[in-house]
Amino acid sequence: MTIITRFAPSPTGRLHLGHALSALLSHDRARGADGRFYLRIDDIDGARSRDDYVAAAMEDLRWFGLMWDDAPVYQSARLALYEAALVRLSAAGLIYPCFCTRADIAAEVAASASAPHGDFGPVYPGTCRSLSDAERLARAHQPHSWRLDMAKAVALAGPLHWEDEREGIILAMPEKAGDIILARKDAPASYHLASTIDDADMGVTHVIRGRDLFASTHIHRLLQALLGLPTPLYHHHALVVDSMGKRLAKRDQATELAALRAQGFEGWALVEDLRRGVLPAGYSLA
Ligand code: GLU
Repeated sequence: MTIITRFAPSPTGRLHLGHALSALLSHDRARGADGRFYLRIDDIDGARSRDDYVAAAMEDLRWFGLMWDDAPVYQSARLALYEAALVRLSAAGLIYPCFCTRADIAAEVAASASAPHGDFGPVYPGTCRSLSDAERLARAHQPHSWRLDMAKAVALAGPLHWEDEREGIILAMPEKAGDIILARKDAPASYHLASTIDDADMGVTHVIRGRDLFASTHIHRLLQALLGLPTPLYHHHALVVDSMGKRLAKRDQATELAALRAQGFEGWALVEDLRRGVLPAGYSLA
């Protein structure tokens, strides 16, 4: 089997050391096995994605000497693929239009003291799930997102598992996330939908990414089952934290790779250190 990995940054900010670790682990896994390492640009969110961040991410990878195979894959060029998947899910009766605004949902959640919270924040209370076909038709011209009917989807898929290299065999529990959004008014596919489809379409065998995305994998496993896609092996690596133990954030310029470069760090030396688990002063793994 040819090992295929990918690094999939969202171009909504500059890369930091956490991204560097994901890219490095993905790169080395493929290179060490004569496999393929791809770069995918997760630019599905047209309002927040920027070309200069794409260019900067590529520059950072080159600085590290982590070269990818083939041309980068842009999610924004693959919308037809996501649309086709939504059509399939719709035909199976697994998605429904949701007309709620964020404010509607917040009000509803606040009104119900016991509203469940998942790894993604408050679980959608399901308001639009029970709309009749006539109501849906009457409101079809209004802006809406598409949500997965989680209970139906889970019942259809049955028990699901995935293998995580660090944590073993995991029972998928997507129901904790509730009726997640698969497409919104302003973004034709959610991260979950686009990422699941692309990993399969690109033939990715090993998904290597930060521990912060562990919860997402429960959902991705369900989408794989619903769409008849293969399940790759997962590896969720430890997160890089700053001296205060805080996870690195894209908005923090001080922790950008560009800042390390400006401080005189050499990309190749940094990569060698990361390979040995050594991080620059002030950073650690958590
Ligand atoms: N695009 C996602 C991010 O930058 C990561 C996608 C993934 O590795 O699945 O957080």
